[in-house]
Amino acid sequence: MRVTIDEDSCIGCGLCVEECPEVFEMDDDKVRVKTGGVAGDVADSCKGVAENCPAEAIQIEN
Ligand code: SF4
Repeated sequence: MRVTIDEDSCIGCGLCVEECPEVFEMDDDKVRVKTGGVAGDVADSCKGVAENCPAEAIQIEN
């Protein structure tokens, strides 16, 4: 599973970093993806975060 963020849409709320620190990290007021490929429990956590992102800025490709 591959995770990307639309940086133009991200509002920097920090939810994804809080919920899934294995994958997301803050970079100034925006978030960046630390890793290209995600699997297992972390992938499940990522999917939940993507659904809850208030800006719908997280894209997931299987
Ligand atoms: S949850 Fe969405 S809007 Fe909030 S920091 Fe993460 S990518 Fe940005």
